Amino acid sequence: MDLKEALEDELKEKELDHLVKSFEVIGDIAIIEVPDELEHRKGLIGEKLMEINKHIKTVLRELSGRKGEFRTRDYELIAGDGDTETLHKEHGCRFRLDPTEMYFSEREAKERQRIVEQVENGEVIMAMFAGVGPFPVVIAKQKDVEKIYAVELNPDAYQYLEENVDLNKLDGKVVPLEGDVKDICPDYFGTCDRVLMPLPRDSNEFLDLAVRCLKEEGIINYYTWSNEEDLYTEAEENILESAEAYGKEVEFLDKRKVLPFAPRKWKICLDCLVKDKK
Ligand code: SAM
Repeated sequence: MDLKEALEDELKEKELDHLVKSFEVIGDIAIIEVPDELEHRKGLIGEKLMEINKHIKTVLRELSGRKGEFRTRDYELIAGDGDTETLHKEHGCRFRLDPTEMYFSEREAKERQRIVEQVENGEVIMAMFAGVGPFPVVIAKQKDVEKIYAVELNPDAYQYLEENVDLNKLDGKVVPLEGDVKDICPDYFGTCDRVLMPLPRDSNEFLDLAVRCLKEEGIINYYTWSNEEDLYTEAEENILESAEAYGKEVEFLDKRKVLPFAPRKWKICLDCLVKDKK
């Protein structure tokens, strides 16, 4: 039974029209949008959601979009015990985290697996903007990589990143590094086969660093936001400009929409082979 069916007898038809169809589940926490029109019904919605999903222990309502450099949201508790630390499972890996203090999206699991399929054994990877570690952990768990450096600025997310590396028995393979990629990446210039850039809002600002982390040849998985009318031109120009500045050329291996971000806006990913010009 879905949430709408479960609430059919308790909400008026007009109220049911405002109910969102989907919600995000992270471990035993459900995160749902409740529009203002249903403010007076939020408790009931949370309770019903728990009733039909027995493993859910806490229901949070989204109160804002993602904000600031840590990309977190404001939430309010609408049902359950209010414990916001949880254990989430994805692709055979376990992640401990608190979604109220750091970024995590279970909706990106498919995109993470897409990147895993590209990675070759023996790669050295710079995982910029690592959060609690989903990209580095799912990759290192499935591929025999040489090393993944995982850089994260948010101290709370970093604590969980360290814990998740431990939890998944990847010590030594995934190396958590706390701080700003601007300070940390220069120590890894010229050493990486791949750079992951999952910070769509600001990724352009860090492209030069990514290019410089690569060996003579390597791959950048570049995420950004874009308008539906012209999805890839601006991103391609930015990547070409940064590569050119360091005497490199670019082959775009793949370009794709990842997830909708706002009306007529998308999170996109460009997979770029960047190599020294001959
Ligand atoms: N990769 C993670 C994931 O997929 O769950 C997190 C992605 S989130 C969009 C971006 C992350 O980058 C946040 O955790 C944020 O704290 C971190 N961040 C932002 N600016 C940073 C910087 N200059 N250096 C290192 N990390 C940064």
